[in-house]
Amino acid sequence: MKKNIIAMNATIMIGLGSILAAPSAYAESISDLEQKKASIQEKRSGVEADISTTSEKINKLQNKQLSAEEQIAAIEAEIAASTKKIDAKNAEITQTKEDIEGLKAEIKVLQDRIAKRNDVLKERALSFQESGGDLNYVEVLFGSSSFSDLIDRVGAVAAIAEADREILKQHELDKKELEEKRKSVEKKLASLEVAKAELLQIQKQQKQQKQQKAALVKKLKKQTKKEEDSKMGLEEEKANLAAQEKAIKSAINLEKNRLAELEAARKKAAAEAKQRAAQEAAAQAAQAAQAKKQQSSSNSNSSSSHSSSSATSSSQAPASVSSAPAVSSGTFTRPSSGYVSSTMGERWNKKHAGVDIAAGGTVPVVAAADGIVSRSYLSSSYGNVVFVTHNINGQTWTTVYAHLSSRQASNGAVVAKGQQIGIMGNTGHSFGQHLHFELHKGEWNYAKSNAVNPLNYIPN
Ligand SMILES: [Zn+2]
Repeated sequence: MKKNIIAMNATIMIGLGSILAAPSAYAESISDLEQKKASIQEKRSGVEADISTTSEKINKLQNKQLSAEEQIAAIEAEIAASTKKIDAKNAEITQTKEDIEGLKAEIKVLQDRIAKRNDVLKERALSFQESGGDLNYVEVLFGSSSFSDLIDRVGAVAAIAEADREILKQHELDKKELEEKRKSVEKKLASLEVAKAELLQIQKQQKQQKQQKAALVKKLKKQTKKEEDSKMGLEEEKANLAAQEKAIKSAINLEKNRLAELEAARKKAAAEAKQRAAQEAAAQAAQAAQAKKQQSSSNSNSSSSHSSSSATSSSQAPASVSSAPAVSSGTFTRPSSGYVSSTMGERWNKKHAGVDIAAGGTVPVVAAADGIVSRSYLSSSYGNVVFVTHNINGQTWTTVYAHLSSRQASNGAVVAKGQQIGIMGNTGHSFGQHLHFELHKGEWNYAKSNAVNPLNYIPN
């Protein structure tokens, strides 16, 4: 369970507080976690607000895009209509040009006819003047039977000439009419060209409008994409925050479980202390009874009594059970009863990284502070040894209890200050029953560079 917490701590990197905290630190770490949870919830609701703002932005952009696209469709319809008009104008222009060509041809024919007739008339008039008429006229005139007939015939010749002139005149009129028609059609063509140019101008503007709208749609699409990307990022952030929140929630639950575990450990420690006290009281009562019996027997033997008799007799009594020292109010309590047989410092040219506490009999060894058993094993030098890791107000401490005859704490166990973790012994590199006790400010290391003098921290 602790390992899971450590793993989670490392994974989510939100510093769930120390696992190895003292009781007050446990509560602190829970409130710390609650605070972190609240801050994550706050962040998440901030992210949710950002997401809804972004969604609104996206909606607006999409509406703008939709309206721009509708406008483009309308402009396209206008362009199609103007194209149709331009096509009609083009057809009209083509037709008018053809009409003009037709008129030109008609005029040409008429012009030729006029020119030919003119020539004929000129010739006819010339020969009539020079010879008083051409052969036909002479024949006409000489064929006359009488003068009056001749007059009539001359009149007829003149009438013929007159008729020719009339035809010619009519031709001229026709030609003039055609010219006018041509002029009017050419005028029509010019106005058609103007109308077409206007239509082309309008269409040019329509195409420009369409281009602008298309550019706007492109821009809107780009903006929408950007907002959608940012929304996606926010959704991811939201998911991460939710995961963190979930992790913190389970961390809080585990922390609460640990608190309960520690509470159980404390109760167990208290019960054990009470039991030890009762056993000791019973042993003392037994000793007192024996002493009284001895005294009465010595009285009957009339031998002198001495104060050391009870000590002698107690040494002969079954191995006594010592009580654990009373749990002190400081940061660390004394790990066992007994006297300090060796202090910290140089000893036999070797650094002594802790203190030795010696006592006879069955001497309980207790945890100096709340913590977690980081190691409990049989070492060739330390003998039966228990390492406890503590976290007190953010500071990690490590305590070592060596040369135990037996260990009562397994790896990973939560132990309370004053809870029994073993019995004083003489295992490993030890000469005589004692507890070798080390206190490290920080982690234990082979050089024991973090070792501090325990006598500065525990009651002597
Ligand atoms: Zn020692």
